[in-house]
Amino acid sequence: MPLSNSQDRQLRERAAAVIPGGMYGHQSTGLLPDDYPQFFAKAKGARLWDVDGHELLDFMCAYGPNLMGYADESIDAAYVSRMRQGDTMTGPSALIVELAETMTAMVTHADWAIFCKNGGDATQIALMTARAHTGRKTVILAKGAYHGALPWCTPRPTGATPEERANRFFCDYNDIASLEAAVAAAGDDLAAIFAAPVKHDAFVDQALPDPAYARRTRELCDQTGALLVVDDVRAGLRIARDCSWATLGVQPDLSSWGKCFANGHPISALLGSEKARKAASQIYTTGSFWYQAAPMAAALETLKRVRETDYLEHMEGLGERLRSGLAERAAAAGIGLRQTGPVTMPLFLFDDDPDLRQGFLWSSQMLARGVYVHPWHNMFLCAAMTSADIDQALDAAEASFAVVKAERPALGPVAKLSFLLA
Ligand SMILES: *Cc1c(COP(=O)(O)O)cnc(C)c1O
Repeated sequence: MPLSNSQDRQLRERAAAVIPGGMYGHQSTGLLPDDYPQFFAKAKGARLWDVDGHELLDFMCAYGPNLMGYADESIDAAYVSRMRQGDTMTGPSALIVELAETMTAMVTHADWAIFCKNGGDATQIALMTARAHTGRKTVILAKGAYHGALPWCTPRPTGATPEERANRFFCDYNDIASLEAAVAAAGDDLAAIFAAPVKHDAFVDQALPDPAYARRTRELCDQTGALLVVDDVRAGLRIARDCSWATLGVQPDLSSWGKCFANGHPISALLGSEKARKAASQIYTTGSFWYQAAPMAAALETLKRVRETDYLEHMEGLGERLRSGLAERAAAAGIGLRQTGPVTMPLFLFDDDPDLRQGFLWSSQMLARGVYVHPWHNMFLCAAMTSADIDQALDAAEASFAVVKAERPALGPVAKLSFLLA
């Protein structure tokens, strides 16, 4: 039985009048099953409460920012205490130096840091730094990789000009030949190669990086003088306590960070190596809120937890438990379920489900059992989850697989998704 959602419905109606399209971005109308709540009242640990009062075990973690648990006591205490002393001020607090020291000590390739607000700020500054460093324009991206919603990289280009989206060449992730072809096409104008730490594109199976592909990316940058940028905004700290490609022995020149390193408080960063320092000091970049002290206090507290606890191993253990438990239950139900991506950032897709009708039904069924999953975007585990939470998700999954199995033959297409899947 679907959950009651009268408060959510009323807010949606009001939003439709005063917010374009009812909602923008990753919570735009139509991207999720109709019974999904759009508005939330509170969040604590691994759980969310929607405005109609339903408690949900949350496998989206705010699309990444929730790493240690929502409303974490010590991280939020650091935030609040710093906020009361002064947050947005005429200049930064001493914390900016401490945070730059902390992050450059944590990330092997990094010698300096610039702090900003959104992941898109960090990827934009990475591109500007690479262009300033090389005096060239072209950037190579992997097809389908997300680097933010600025005109040069937004996945839906309405409102951006062709000029803003010029000077880009594309390769296929993990495909060395296509990468080499893109480098050849860029000729003597290559400024940067952007690398996703893992292939975490929407709607498709995820892929871990092939170490040979990562090494070849580094070599091609070295041969051409272009900068290698690893965009760790999403995967950072869920794969390693270093840049994610450090696990492959490949060090970038620049890495972009965001989402979770202050556990949901607004801050992002571009980290860079010595080679790129001069260029980074020549570009002009800033924002009214970029010196805010309170998110930096939250970041320092979060990173202390990263250094001093087994949060990552804990999440990996839970991720393995979820993966193997789901595989068993899907197999027992006779359902073909593909689980891809790192276990801390899983994505589930059903076999023979090109328009996601099974995925949508299964997700709705999970929601009705108090578990918030996503039918086509990678999910996230957080360190506040427990094995009892994973078992709750597995019980819900078993019952939801049974419903999919029973209703599959009669399912119709998912109405509003077709424009995205085209
Ligand atoms: C979310 C994301 C961004 C953009 O971050 P925002 O904070 O949304 O601007 C950039 N790169 C990757 C890989 C992301 O997942």
